[in-house]
Amino acid sequence: MKPEETLDPDDWEEARRVGHLMIDDMLDYLITVRERPAWRSVPGETKTALDEPAPMDGAPLSEVYDTFKTHVLPYPTGNLHPGFFGWVMGNGTVTGMLADMLASGMNPHVGGYDQAAALVERQVIAWFAELMGYPNGASGLLVTGATMANINALAVARNEKAGFDIRERGLQHESAPKLRLYGSVETHNWILKACELMGLGRDAYRAAPVNDAYQIDIDACRAAIKQDIENGDKPFCLLGSAGTVNTGAIDNLAGLRALADEFDLWFHIDGAFGSLAALSPQARPLVEAQAQADSIAFDLHKWGYMPYDVGCVLVRDTGVHEAAFKQTPSYLSSTTRGLSVETTYFADKGVQLSRSFRALKVWMSLKEQGAQKIGRLIQQNIDQAKYLEGLVRADDDLEVLAPVSLNIVCFRYCRHEDDADWNAVNEEILLRIQESGSAVPSQTILDGNFAIRVCITNHRTRIEDLDQLAKDVVRHGRDVVSAG
Ligand SMILES: *Cc1c(COP(=O)(O)O)cnc(C)c1O
Repeated sequence: MKPEETLDPDDWEEARRVGHLMIDDMLDYLITVRERPAWRSVPGETKTALDEPAPMDGAPLSEVYDTFKTHVLPYPTGNLHPGFFGWVMGNGTVTGMLADMLASGMNPHVGGYDQAAALVERQVIAWFAELMGYPNGASGLLVTGATMANINALAVARNEKAGFDIRERGLQHESAPKLRLYGSVETHNWILKACELMGLGRDAYRAAPVNDAYQIDIDACRAAIKQDIENGDKPFCLLGSAGTVNTGAIDNLAGLRALADEFDLWFHIDGAFGSLAALSPQARPLVEAQAQADSIAFDLHKWGYMPYDVGCVLVRDTGVHEAAFKQTPSYLSSTTRGLSVETTYFADKGVQLSRSFRALKVWMSLKEQGAQKIGRLIQQNIDQAKYLEGLVRADDDLEVLAPVSLNIVCFRYCRHEDDADWNAVNEEILLRIQESGSAVPSQTILDGNFAIRVCITNHRTRIEDLDQLAKDVVRHGRDVVSAG
């Protein structure tokens, strides 16, 4: 008989040596992050190395690790770098990194069960319910990110407010009314993915216009709801944004709560990053009304500074949350003793059955850093955004393109006395800055104008990085215009 095999190391001492080396190398990598370019493009030889046939024969771990060090580690998106301000990306922490290693080492299945990992996730959910002002005992689930958290909440909203048994009958039966939901034109594009995926169709979503501060126009939204009801459609959900992706605008959340009540709609808040402002005592009033929502979705891998991927959905009422997902096939039934106590505690709150221990990094980060320190860093980012806004306003050649309500500054280079295609100029400035490796802002279009968009969710950013960025924009702007 052939000897049986296992995937445990043949040589545990060698595994220990390589493992320790990985930790040392990774800490060095984090210590020196400021010394490297914020971003550089992936060279051809790495593209070739990462495009090979499936390896049929294995290789020693140390060799595989060397290839990682040569070809993978040096070419990141750059989101760890202090000069990274693109989109809404997080940076991660040493604690989060180590916790992810522990979680993978322990590798529990967190669908539920009588195990400590499930209690850790329950604990984390309870902490965030408390921090967001939600009632004790609110339901929640950790998921991969705000997209999935929002979709989870939308499924709950639909189940609760459709007015018929959507789980049994779906949307295809003849008397099903056209379900409608409402938000603003500034809502993140997760909403369109959700409408497509859930069979609602994109046209189920009514996007209300926004005011000058990029907040939803509540009166226009009310008019749209009334019109749909007159047409025999069934409005079921109203969406608010606590921090829009373009400009960081926070909708009038209390006003939206009242509007939802007027028409018996579910009120959900997409607070992907903005909800976390609740952790800063100064910023908390901006989002305080989120505590009145029926559900909230937010990310911890953005403004919670934790490693990818982890987002959270909170649902005020546990019964309503489970009513949208719970199923009990015989092979997942719970017993009163043994391992299978509350077998599907978490699986009953979402789509995933097998689930990773992503709660561990959240639990360890909060315990080590404390919610107050995370709140201070969030406030630091808000103050940095205000500082950058000040620099832009003080420079005649720079122009703020949207109010700065949180941590996002949208601006451009523009000398009105010159005749230039400012959209093309600013795109070129942005690309030059990214390619120089000094910083990574991203872009958006506001009112037809190309904006250099700086979103600060970065615990490594310092004021000097923003001084440098403002100088670089002006310098590149002059070069681009004088080169025609
Ligand atoms: C990032 C973001 C999302 C999507 O979150 P993911 O974690 O990327 O899935 C949704 N809404 C807003 C406002 C966001 O900033």
